[in-house]
Amino acid sequence: MSAYDLIVIGAGPGGYVAAIRAAQLGMKVACVEGRGSLGGTCLNVGCIPSKALLTSSGKYAELSHLSAHGISAGEVSLDLGALMARKDKIVGDLTKGIAFLFKKNGVDHIEGWASIPAPGQVQVGEDSYTAKNILIATGSEPATLPGVEIDEVDVLSSTGALALEAAPEHLVVIGAGVIGLELGQVWSRLGSKVTVVEYLDRILPGIDGEIAKLSQRALSKRGLKFQLGRALKTIEKGENGLTLTLDRVGKDKEEQIQTDKVLVAIGRRPVTKGLGLEKLGVTVTARGFIEVGGDFQTSVPGIYAIGDCVPGPMLAHKAEEDGIACVEMLAGEAGHVDYNLVPGVVYTDPEVASVGATEEALKEAGTEYICGNFTFMANSRARASGETDGAVKVLADPAGKLLGAHICGAHAGDLIAELVLAMAKGATVAEVAAACHAHPSMAEAVKEACLDAMGRAIHA
Ligand code: FAD
Repeated sequence: MSAYDLIVIGAGPGGYVAAIRAAQLGMKVACVEGRGSLGGTCLNVGCIPSKALLTSSGKYAELSHLSAHGISAGEVSLDLGALMARKDKIVGDLTKGIAFLFKKNGVDHIEGWASIPAPGQVQVGEDSYTAKNILIATGSEPATLPGVEIDEVDVLSSTGALALEAAPEHLVVIGAGVIGLELGQVWSRLGSKVTVVEYLDRILPGIDGEIAKLSQRALSKRGLKFQLGRALKTIEKGENGLTLTLDRVGKDKEEQIQTDKVLVAIGRRPVTKGLGLEKLGVTVTARGFIEVGGDFQTSVPGIYAIGDCVPGPMLAHKAEEDGIACVEMLAGEAGHVDYNLVPGVVYTDPEVASVGATEEALKEAGTEYICGNFTFMANSRARASGETDGAVKVLADPAGKLLGAHICGAHAGDLIAELVLAMAKGATVAEVAAACHAHPSMAEAVKEACLDAMGRAIHA
């Protein structure tokens, strides 16, 4: 029986980062992972493979739109096998990189599925380990709808949609959230007709409504079809593919769509099965997330939880922040995550990025605010590069202190960093606007949106 200061269960971005930071802080640490490779959902079947496919498919799509630049690329062909092999190599290299980081930092990697028979004990197969503290970082898995069985052949989760061997003629995506839109755009660019079906009457729930509308308009221009206000009722398999029956929400009307494949992208649910939480008395929410306090401790002393398996945004960088704050507090240091300042990015073309309050949330809370907007159509760098779709929107209190920022446009995922930092430092729109922004740059649209909030935009 080996004894540790900390055993982390799960080697996703929450778990592996927490394990490395704990080792840096002088703890004797082991990290248990059941999947054959390290890196969790993010590296294996999430952030990284999806971004690899978005980049490759983006380059392919771009080649068809070069004529406006006076460039003719001749006949363009696609080798989907090579494209997928590139993605697999990136995933393989990065997951192996974590094994190297574990060795470098002295973290023991235990392979297998873990359970917690009692506080301070971890069981992996036949082996038992003891630990002063246990950190659960078991992440999440794709959710599905009642009566809809994911077979990863015709009815896919994101995992299946990252590994298709051929572009389906027609792909229906159920759910217009981040994952559905990103993977929908990948397959649309690679040749599929893609229809996105969404229960709500808008896409990207949780994102500022105006920005979501800009995104929908731009994605429609790039070929995605949207069927909003529709709920998937049944999927029937026939000789000629799948028949989906959809309910028109609130209209007492049904519709049918024929398709080759369906991607169910309605969200993710926490993974806690097999850990023994019920027997331990660890409290979980109605939706199965592990309840934790501000120090990430569960209802059982000495057992902590972070990342996708606890309530909060299901994002890799949030899981990492959780993990670092948790182990720093265990080591007696101050640790804190400001969940209002966790940016969210949708890596479609154009990108969508967001931090802080949306306009809808401010209205609902009755908070007084001012708003600034700036369209990329009026930004010279966007005009030069032909990436004029979208806008920057900032929300601030009447004194100008930033409350939220939302961007739809090329490089939005990078542009948001300035506004996250500004909000973290309690900056005002005047302070952001007073900083010198390089010309010509997309970032000038951030400055102009801040100026607009004060009625002073120059190029609007
Ligand atoms: P996970 O990454 O899910 O890792 C948990 C690990 O624990 C898994 O490897 C699992 O095998 C292991 N495990 C579970 N139970 C046990 C057990 N009993 N014993 C041993 N091991 C166990 N987020 C972003 O921030 N940006 C993105 O661009 C992004 N894109 C995404 C794209 C897709 C297609 C998907 C599906 C997700 C994406 N996400 C993205 C979300 C991101 O992947 C997750 O938020 C993140 O991986 C959560 O990290 P985690 O460490 O909490 O859990």
